[in-house]
Parts: sequence; C-alpha cells; structure tokens
Amino acid sequence: MCNQQEAAAGLIPVAYRRPAEPGDEPDDGAAASGGAATEGGRSRGAVDSNGQRRALDYPPAPEPLPVPVIDNHTHLDFRDGAVEVSVRDALDAAELAGVKGAIQVGCDLASSRFTVEALDVEPRLLGAVAIHPNEAPLMAQAGTLESALEEIEQLAAHPRVRCIGETGLDYFRTAEDGIERQQYSFRRHIDLAKRLGLALQIHDRDAHEDVVRILREEGAPERVVFHCFSGDAELARICNAEGWYMSFAGTLTFKNAANLREALAVAELDRILVETDSPFLTPHPYRGRPNASYMVPYTVRAIAELRGSDTAELGAQLVKNTEAVYGSWALV
Ligand SMILES: [Zn+2]
Repeated sequence: MCNQQEAAAGLIPVAYRRPAEPGDEPDDGAAASGGAATEGGRSRGAVDSNGQRRALDYPPAPEPLPVPVIDNHTHLDFRDGAVEVSVRDALDAAELAGVKGAIQVGCDLASSRFTVEALDVEPRLLGAVAIHPNEAPLMAQAGTLESALEEIEQLAAHPRVRCIGETGLDYFRTAEDGIERQQYSFRRHIDLAKRLGLALQIHDRDAHEDVVRILREEGAPERVVFHCFSGDAELARICNAEGWYMSFAGTLTFKNAANLREALAVAELDRILVETDSPFLTPHPYRGRPNASYMVPYTVRAIAELRGSDTAELGAQLVKNTEAVYGSWALV
C-alpha cells in the first residue's frame, strides 16, 4: 500500500525515489550510469539527443486532480531513471495524483506481449498493440513483418486490448528507403483496427500530410487518435472535421510549442485527450527527466489554463472522451 503522507504533492512518489544513500542499494549503480535493459524490456539512455547527460531523478508529484483522469498513452515496459518501478506501483502513484488508469502501449512483439500480460493482472490498464513505424521497415527488410503482424492480431484478441497502436509514419527517424515499407505497415494496421473494431493510435512525426492521405485512402477506422499530437491549427481543423481525436502530451507545455497551443485552441472539446507517452516527453519544467503516468496532472492543468476551463469540468470531459474511444475500464 502507498503511504498517503509520503505520496504527497511536491515529493517524488515513494516507488520512484532513488535511495537516499546510494551505498544502501547494491544494484543502483548500473541503472544510474545508463540503464541496463530489464528482461524483455527496454530502457532509455542517460544521455539526451544533444549529447548532454540527463537528470535521472523522477519529478515531484503534482497536486492531485479534483476529478481523476486517464493517461491515454504510456510504455510501462520501458525503463527510465535510476529505479525499477512495478506496474502496480506505477498505477498506485498515478492514482494518488488523480490518474485512475492508463493505456499501456506496445511497439514491437516484446512490448505487445508485455502489454497483454499486464492487462491480465492490472485492472487499471487497457492496452494497445502494434509494430511501431520505426520498427516496421526493419522487420520488413528482415522478412519478419508478416509473422509479427499475425502475432499482433492474435494479441489484439485479448478483451482488454482496445486499440491498435502505436502505428503511423515517422519521417524523422526513417530514411527515404524505409518509407514505402513504413506506409505499407501503416495500411496493414489500419486494416487490422477496422477488421477487429478497435481504435487506432497514430504516431505521426513530420508526416502529417501522408498520415491524413493514407487514412482517407484506406478509409479510417471509426475511432482514430493522433497520439502525442504534433500538428498545428490546420491539422486540428482536419481532425475536428473528420472526427479524429487529438491526444496532447507534455510537449504542449514546452516553450517552443506555440503550434500545439494554437492547435489546442481550435480543437473541439469532445476530441481532446491527454497522455504522458512516458517515460518520454516530461512536461515543463521537468523536461528531460523521466516521465510517468502520475505526471498527467501537469498537462491537464496546462490544457485547462490554455482553454480557460475549470480543471474539474475538463477532467470529466477528458474521461468521457477517453471512454468514447476505448470503452469502459470496468472488468466484465
Ligand atoms: Zn509512445
């Protein structure tokens, strides 16, 4: 059980704390010096994209939200920081901050399998499974994409997998020669979501036009989410018109994200979702530190402030939108 007092706002949640005396904890060193991958999982490096060492301490917990919300996108299999946190501890810490559940998202076979296993033991989770657009071209080249897609379809049969994702296009990380394979994989995931009647979570990096074009060419699934929405007001208007959802992450709070704030300003209230994409995209002023679902309130409050809405009313609307996409979290 969590200790209410120790989980108070302004302090790092207990499960995320690095031991006070590094010498007390025998295996602290490996993780702190760069992070050894846990079995079947992945870990994030201790150096950022500019070659700078990142701070690996988790940020303090925010003031709990008046109305609990749901983190629409997290990677609990992806280790970051200097401590290892169990799925249950992660959701306990989130719950104390007013985040009552999350969508656990798979990006490859290992993390999609992890997702389904986590769904069996943690009722506060629903899941998404897919082959990530950065993985798909490599698998296609190696001749393993078709069998991987078959397994994703099998994993998606789990009653608490409610989404195919993350899929989409990433022109930032994928070179020219991989783009055709990436688009092929995206089309296959769209087809899968439609056949299984599941939502679709899209990863769109520097590829807005092609994402929209391919969705229209294929015929979009009934429920489409732009995860970590990265578009401007123009893409937000397209999403409004098409009935697609925009899931805002900590990037909304970044100083250089005026385009996202413009998008948020025009987004229809019933199309807005919130997520962490943890362990990535930690909201300002903790950018670069590890992220976790308990950090959602920072982004919820940023949305409320930018839209001039009441935090409790916004929270209730976000949950309504989330359940319109993924269905109920209740066990059946
Ligand atoms: Zn993600």
